[in-house]
Amino acid sequence: MEENKEKSVSNKVVIVTGGARGIGAGIVKLLAQENYQIVLNYNNSKEAAEITKQGLQKQNKEIEIFKADVSKREEVIKLIKFTIEKYHRIDVLINNAGIAQEKLFTQITDEDWNKMMQTNLTSVFYCTQEVVSHMIKEQKGTIINISSIWGVTGGSCEVHYSVAKAGVDGMTKALAKELGPSHIRVNSIAPGIINTDMNKNVSKEEWEEIRNEIPLESIGKAEDIAKCVKWLIEDEYTTGQIISVNGGWYI
Ligand code: NAP
Repeated sequence: MEENKEKSVSNKVVIVTGGARGIGAGIVKLLAQENYQIVLNYNNSKEAAEITKQGLQKQNKEIEIFKADVSKREEVIKLIKFTIEKYHRIDVLINNAGIAQEKLFTQITDEDWNKMMQTNLTSVFYCTQEVVSHMIKEQKGTIINISSIWGVTGGSCEVHYSVAKAGVDGMTKALAKELGPSHIRVNSIAPGIINTDMNKNVSKEEWEEIRNEIPLESIGKAEDIAKCVKWLIEDEYTTGQIISVNGGWYI
């Protein structure tokens, strides 16, 4: 009996957008160790995606990689079609892909604004909408959106990023209500600061200053977010929540 339960959990089919680098790569690695069947989406990082695939396949893990720019509806449609043809269902969607940009509000151009919304918010709309019909058919599923502390608190010099992430959190709450009766859970994880390429311009001194502001006295790692993702997938009664994983930076 226990064995069957183990099997059904570990066989879940998971799409991770932006899974070749940073937080997405951390999520892919942890879920692969738990024997989830993973479709790693990448856009520019083909080599990193292939290295991850080869490494995990050597450990007999089930992983496919698929190139798609998730800010484009037609590419998202191809990603979902590929996954359904391969696995016939999607149990978990992790909307992780995203970009950041630091700019004074007065200097944000229309192009900056539109790119931010398209990549960080509209992509979540596209991926979720294309996946949800399959989940409704199964009457189950889990959607996890990686938003941000700045969507909750607002980030100076990142107004467009903060707006997009707040939009993602709004989508999480509204969709959780709409999809609850279909047994589909929708949650956001709002990371604090995580050591990835997204923060490659943060200086040593700035890292130290930020670390000093964090009650747990450490900068987040991709694995910290991955562990919360794993928990949310396994959980059965949490929906519509914005879960802050930030070392206590914002409480
Ligand atoms: P990262 O290291 O810069 O990686 C960004 C990822 O997003 C890459 O895998 C990239 O894929 C993918 N991506 C970007 N645009 C894409 C597109 N149009 N289509 C498909 N994939 C796309 O950033 P990260 O720190 O891992 O961030 C991951 C998520 O966490 C983002 O949503 C970010 O906003 C959020 N977050 C990060 C932090 C932090 O401190 N790092 C804090 C809060 C929230 P390719 O390389 O293949 O193009």
